[in-house]
Amino acid sequence: MPRPRFKQKCVRCRRNFVLTTTRNRFPVCYDCQKGQLAGKIRDPELSKLCDIPEDLYRMDPFLRDIKIKAINQNSLTEKQIEAFKKTVRRLLSEKPSLSDPEMVDDPSLL
Ligand SMILES: [Zn+2]
Repeated sequence: MPRPRFKQKCVRCRRNFVLTTTRNRFPVCYDCQKGQLAGKIRDPELSKLCDIPEDLYRMDPFLRDIKIKAINQNSLTEKQIEAFKKTVRRLLSEKPSLSDPEMVDDPSLL
């Protein structure tokens, strides 16, 4: 069962709404995280993992969190990597237009 998702105001700009879950008590919108997301991931494996259509980051605060962690810490736990892949797969199945193979470099994510 997917967790219930609801809209909450971004805690940073208090202007945009973020689609979030009850587990994320401090949602930040895409616009506020854009600067951080533009950072470079030095680890080639993680860089490849996070190389997904930008729309997915726009849609999901969890994916943004993971990418920012990868940029800042240069490492992710197995669990985070699994959850990341699972979320990507779920979003792609919800939005089939995003699963254009041209947009996804790594077919193992699908
Ligand atoms: Zn914001």
